[in-house]
Amino acid sequence: MTRQVGLTVHRSASAIGGNCIEISTSQGDRLILDVGKPLDVPEDSEVKLPDTLGLYRPISGVLLSHAHQDHYGLLQALPKNLPVFCGEATAKLIKLSSEIMHEPIDRSFSTWKSDQPFVVGPFKVTPLLTDHSAFDAYMLLVEVAGKRILYSGDFRNHGRKATLVERLMRNPPTDIDVLVMEGTNLGSDKPCKSESDLEEDFVGLFNRTPGRVFVAWSGQNADRTVTLYRACKKTGRTLVVDTYTAEVLELLGEHAKIPRPGWPNLKVVVTKNLSRFYRRRGREEVTERMVKYGISANKLAMTPDKWVVMTRSSLIEDYAAAGVTPDPNEVWSWSMWSGYLDKGHGQKIKDWFEKSKTPSTHIHTSGHASSANLGEFARYINAKKLIPVHGAAWRYDMDDFPSITKIRDGEQLII
Ligand SMILES: [Zn+2]
Ligand SMILES: [Zn+2]
Repeated sequence: MTRQVGLTVHRSASAIGGNCIEISTSQGDRLILDVGKPLDVPEDSEVKLPDTLGLYRPISGVLLSHAHQDHYGLLQALPKNLPVFCGEATAKLIKLSSEIMHEPIDRSFSTWKSDQPFVVGPFKVTPLLTDHSAFDAYMLLVEVAGKRILYSGDFRNHGRKATLVERLMRNPPTDIDVLVMEGTNLGSDKPCKSESDLEEDFVGLFNRTPGRVFVAWSGQNADRTVTLYRACKKTGRTLVVDTYTAEVLELLGEHAKIPRPGWPNLKVVVTKNLSRFYRRRGREEVTERMVKYGISANKLAMTPDKWVVMTRSSLIEDYAAAGVTPDPNEVWSWSMWSGYLDKGHGQKIKDWFEKSKTPSTHIHTSGHASSANLGEFARYINAKKLIPVHGAAWRYDMDDFPSITKIRDGEQLII
């Protein structure tokens, strides 16, 4: 009897994030790709795993494509004994973020290496390192019962790892039955700037600003840290990061050649509130370790044309107490998605600069492929079916996309 293969998108069939996808066989074997927390829920609200996942039925393994909450955020709701697989740096990032921002994760991860296939029950999995704003993000090729499924995870081809995606397009995996692809940027015709273009934008900004440049970006976005660091080197400035970002850079430094504490043109600002927070979490050794690479916030008030200062809402109070208040000759840049600027932490940062009449500039590029690049990628992969996920603007009849099979959350497609 031939085995049938099913594909179910439990969550994210028509929303950005919260990915939870299942590949199953008629023998009852199940493999889960990502267990994300949806993005459109308030930070502290409780979200459950999708009902249709049915935890009472056995699962062979769970694969996590990368260390973004909308792909792993519901991990703790899974039984502890369930095997979880991900990249090596991804496992470390998930553990670090969980320890600092949420509850520590006390489960073990089996880690994979790019391009090295491994087996989970009847499933053969090949992880393919890709280009995304999260470090160590993967596409996943899953083979089972004669079917081949490629899951794109989140990706782009305008970041610092663009060549990985371009190489895959030039030499695509053959005979793909289903491509499960993200579509974050659908509905916008805007092309996406490359990280190198952004680097030049920052170089211009740093050169023409007489005082400090304040930048708000995500400490986990290693590509952006590299962009800022390179722009600092080109303009003789020093990039000032907080303890958390410094810790992330130390961790990622074990996996790639990226700037880290101890390198020239990089300093760690050690602030009271963040140090207290680290102490409460039993992590004072991190602060102590950073002191030798550190500067106090007071220093940022001196030689102002030297610094590019990381700005987060949690640092503002310490900066203000140390006399680091922006002025109208300086500039601040929001280097994240503009949608985050009008709520919570983003709003607090915006208010701080608006109060001091400091001009702003938005220098950013998306962590996801542009609409045109998504279509091009899908055409190169040339799968028999394209199943959309992680997008709010997917339609059946999209020009430039191969035939789209749209399914609803929880609905199973037999491949
Ligand atoms: Zn995502
Ligand atoms: Zn992501």
